[in-house]
Amino acid sequence: MGKASRREFAKLGAIAGIGTALGSAEGLRAVGIAATNTAPASELAKPSSQEESSSRGRLIAPLINHVGYRPGAGKFIVIEDLPGAESFELVRVHKKGMSPVFVGKLASTGKDFGPYLLGDFSSFREPGIYRANVPVGNPVTGEDRLPAWSYDFGIGERVWDDSLHKLVNYYRLQACGASRHGYNSPCHTGKIERDDHGEAVPITGGWHSAHDHLRDLSEILHGVFGLLAVATARPDLEEELGLFDEIRWGNDYFLSLQSPPGYVCFGVYAKHYYDYERWDWWDSASYILITKPAALIFQHNFIAIQAMIAMLYQQTHPEYAARCREAGRRSFEWVRKQPGGAWGREKLSYELGTGVLAGVEMFRATGEVQYRKFAAALANQLVALQQPAGFFAECQGSDVEIAADYDLPVVRAVYAPLAQLGLCAAARWLADDPDWPRWKASLARFASFLKSASEANAFGLIPYRVYRDQPPVKTRSLHGLHYRYFLEPDVKTTIPFWKPDYWNTGSDAQAAGHGVVMSWMAEILGETWLAKLAQRQLDWITGANPFNASMILGVGRNQPVSYRSLEIFPDVPDIDGAVLQGPIGTAADEPLIVSNYWATAEFWMPHQAAVTWLAAEISISA
Ligand SMILES: [Zn+2]
Repeated sequence: MGKASRREFAKLGAIAGIGTALGSAEGLRAVGIAATNTAPASELAKPSSQEESSSRGRLIAPLINHVGYRPGAGKFIVIEDLPGAESFELVRVHKKGMSPVFVGKLASTGKDFGPYLLGDFSSFREPGIYRANVPVGNPVTGEDRLPAWSYDFGIGERVWDDSLHKLVNYYRLQACGASRHGYNSPCHTGKIERDDHGEAVPITGGWHSAHDHLRDLSEILHGVFGLLAVATARPDLEEELGLFDEIRWGNDYFLSLQSPPGYVCFGVYAKHYYDYERWDWWDSASYILITKPAALIFQHNFIAIQAMIAMLYQQTHPEYAARCREAGRRSFEWVRKQPGGAWGREKLSYELGTGVLAGVEMFRATGEVQYRKFAAALANQLVALQQPAGFFAECQGSDVEIAADYDLPVVRAVYAPLAQLGLCAAARWLADDPDWPRWKASLARFASFLKSASEANAFGLIPYRVYRDQPPVKTRSLHGLHYRYFLEPDVKTTIPFWKPDYWNTGSDAQAAGHGVVMSWMAEILGETWLAKLAQRQLDWITGANPFNASMILGVGRNQPVSYRSLEIFPDVPDIDGAVLQGPIGTAADEPLIVSNYWATAEFWMPHQAAVTWLAAEISISA
């Protein structure tokens, strides 16, 4: 998570809510960010008008996925709406001559992020390396035409394989304990104190959550989903990526946190997250095991993960598979006795969706009807939260507003799409259930919401949140819905042993999570446009965004400068395959990247996991 830089920024006056006021140019310089615009803070946070942008330096470039596309994938090009921009061309790079292999028309599109044009070349399937150009009016002479070119991109069956290697590589370098690959291995192998005053023992394994070395479930459990997605989609890569070993490296840590009653603990956390003068973050004595149960959503995810490992490795590692299945069963026994959710008597949509996934996966792993009944009941509760416009409310009443909570802001920001994923799991694997038609119809209604929401902007992005009641901050509106693509600028979380404090994160995990849901929905509903929209979520992460920037180090181009706290030594290196958090939003909900700023440019496992998961899905779809 954001580490002590959060305080550093606040101290320098550079944040205090980057969306409400971007801070003084002085503050930005003080943290090593080039402040090229000395306009007052309130001016910087405003969406730029046409006049303002024409008075600044500009980048005119066709935006595509920097990696490329599988032959059957949806393929789109986005460019700013410029005079003269009407069509686009694809030119083959490894061939002499400029004659285009494909010519397409550009059409206007939703204007939520400003005026852009959209071109579709999904029908072009020939493998190769290409570059796209868009002839525009020459912005200097104003007369002749000038082709603006994209980066090179590939079309090929295995175009995502190199990226998958790198994404998995990140996990290896962030492995905690005496691993063979950790960037400062062996680390954190000493005894870890417990908050219940039980005996301190070494607790090793798992992965460092981010730039810092927290290992709470909220931040790193999801990592296993990313690796499981690769292992499930790409058994051909199992051996060369050593997927079982990497999954086990993480999962052994989670298994070690299971308590005698069955629940999994909150996890290993810093004793004082902000006091880096006193504590050395490479010293095991700086950490404490928080023994209270992790939030319900993470108990559910733990169960689903154990069942998935059990199924996937039943043949090759039967003993470990049996151990995981038993761990899942024990956790489920505890979960089923919980009367409500983590945030009240009613389970929130995220808790319902992950509960469905847990039940479905345990049913698949054991064939026992109790798990299926549990999943079906929760799926029906989730359907009851669907609104007439097709999106899912968080709960029956007003949306929950809890500032003084650690998990809920994180869950909303990065794990929200797991609600719909649960419904997809029920529709995918419980097809002979009497309630199956209800789940499928619900997903069809959600698909119509995705369609209209994705068409409101040029990049196919889906809102992070749709508000039920009067929204508390500035929002966008369309067809009577109030929404934001990016987190509210006034979100606070409560770090353990600390007071509620400003927190923010980029859009990668939301986009990737929605992409996974779209990919599953495409199969369930038999709608290819949903598979194309799933690809566009990955496009947003690897280049097709207003910054023409990839958010994965070593994959694509133009990454922001990655975050450096300078409070940990040795510092986390730039790791090939590390996923940056992505753009955050201004007060007006416009995308914003600040180089080196933790909320946009720090590595963090929830984003890593979701992007790895989507890349795995995309590497086999279409
Ligand atoms: Zn470590």
